[in-house]
Amino acid sequence: MLDNRLIEADATKLDELREILKAQENSDKLCGIGMKEIHIEHGGAKKVCQAVKSLTDGKKVLMVTGPTEIVDVDGKNVKEAVKAYLDAEYDVEWLVISEPNSIVHATPENAAKIQAHFEGKDIVVGIGGGTICDLCKYSTYYYDHENPLPLVIVQTALSVNAFSDDSSVMLINGVKRTVHSRYPLILIIDLDIVAAAPAEMNVSGYGDLIATWTAPVDWYLGNVLGMGQHFHTAPSDMIRTQCDRLLEKSEKLAAGDAKTLGELANVLTLSGLSMGLANESSPASGSEHVMSHLIDMASGVRKTGICYHGTQVAVSGIMSEIIWDWLLNDFDPKKVDLDKCYPSFEEMEPRVKAAFDWLDDTHNAANECWADYQKKLQRWHDHKAEFKAFLENFDEFKKAVAPWVKKPEYIADCMHKANAPTRYSKLNFPVDEKTVRWAITNCHLMRNRFSVIDLLHFTGFWTDEFVQKLIERAEAMDAGL
Ligand SMILES: [Zn+2]
Repeated sequence: MLDNRLIEADATKLDELREILKAQENSDKLCGIGMKEIHIEHGGAKKVCQAVKSLTDGKKVLMVTGPTEIVDVDGKNVKEAVKAYLDAEYDVEWLVISEPNSIVHATPENAAKIQAHFEGKDIVVGIGGGTICDLCKYSTYYYDHENPLPLVIVQTALSVNAFSDDSSVMLINGVKRTVHSRYPLILIIDLDIVAAAPAEMNVSGYGDLIATWTAPVDWYLGNVLGMGQHFHTAPSDMIRTQCDRLLEKSEKLAAGDAKTLGELANVLTLSGLSMGLANESSPASGSEHVMSHLIDMASGVRKTGICYHGTQVAVSGIMSEIIWDWLLNDFDPKKVDLDKCYPSFEEMEPRVKAAFDWLDDTHNAANECWADYQKKLQRWHDHKAEFKAFLENFDEFKKAVAPWVKKPEYIADCMHKANAPTRYSKLNFPVDEKTVRWAITNCHLMRNRFSVIDLLHFTGFWTDEFVQKLIERAEAMDAGL
C-alpha cells in the first residue's frame, strides 16, 4: 500500500520528508538527505544572505556564475541582484566561468578554475543552471572531501533534476560520467527567476522527468537480474504520482502557468533527492539518459552544440518507452536460448571499442567505455541463475512493473501538449539521423549500469532491424528522428 504522505511529498519540508522516509519499509537501505534547506518561493533569492549566515560566520563569499545574462520576471538582472544582496553584508568575489563559445561544460578543468579561488573563502554561492551547479558541487567536494566549503545554489531554471542530489555529471576524457560529489547545503528556487527562464529550459526539466517512466523500471530490472544494488521503491514512489499529475497539466506548463511551474519545481527537486536517497542516479537515469549521453558525446566531438539535457532525454524517453512496451507485450522468454546469451570478453572488447573509437584519436573514450562495460559483462556472466529465474517468472515481473510504465503514445501526446520537442531533429541543436542511430544502437555499451537494452542485446533482439522498427513506431507518433 502506497503511503499517501510519501506520494504527496513536499521538497521544502525536509524534516517532515525524513520522517516519512524513515517510516517506509527497509528505510535503512535509503541514504540520508545531506541538505539543510530547500526554498521554492516567489522572491526566494532575497534569502541568499540569510542562507549564507546560517552556514558560516565567515565573511568571504565566492560567487560562481556562467557567462550568460539572466533576468527575472521584472527584467532585473539576477546575478547583479544577488551580488548586491551579498555585497551589503559580505566580501564577495564574483567568478565567471566561461569558454570561448560561451557554452560552459562541466569538466574537471573548469572545476579547477573554480578551485583556484577557494583559498581564504568561507562559502561558495553558485547561481545558474545544471552545469554551474554540477561544477560547484564537484569543485568543493574534490577540493576537500572531509570538510568541503559550504555551498548555496540559486537555481535559475527548472532545466534538470540534478540541483538536489549529491553527484555531478562531468565530461571526463570526452565521456559523460556521473560522479559522486555532494549536495548543496541550501537550494533556493526563486519562482520569479525560473518563470522568466527561456520556456525551453523549463520544458527541459519536464523532459528530465519523462525518465520517471523508464529509469525506475530499468533499475528494478537490473536488481532482479543481480546486476544492480540499492533498489528501493520509495525514491520512485515519492515522485511518480506528482509526475503523473504534471503530465496531465502539460498544456498548462506550455502556457507558463505559475502554479504548474511551482509543481514542476517541487517534483523536479524531489527527483533529484530520489537519486541521493538511492545513492545512485538510477531512479531518474536509465536507458533514456544513456542514449542522451551518447548524443552529447558525439555533439561534443562534432561541435554541433549540446542540447538542453531534459528535452533530449525526453525524446530518448519515448524511445525507451517503446522498448519497454515491446518487452512487456512482445518478448517471449521461451524463445531465449540461455546459453547463447553470454558473449565473451574477446567478442565484446572490439565491439565496444569500435563503437567509440571515432570519438577521439587518443582512444581515451573507447578505453573508458570498455573499462566500465567489462564490469557489467562480468556481472552478467556471474549472475546467470537470476536471469534463468527471470525467464521462468517473467509474468510475475511484468505484473510488478506494469503500474510503473506508460504507453509511449501517451507520453508523446503529453509532450506535444507541453510544447516539448519529440524529435531529435527539432531539439535546440538538431541532431542528425546518423548520430541518433549510432547513439541508440550503441548506448548500452557505454557504461556499467544495466538497462532493458542490455537485456535485448544479450538475448539477441537488439539488432539494426529492431532499432529501425523502434524509429518507425516513434515516427507514427510524430516523434523520433
Ligand atoms: Zn537527467
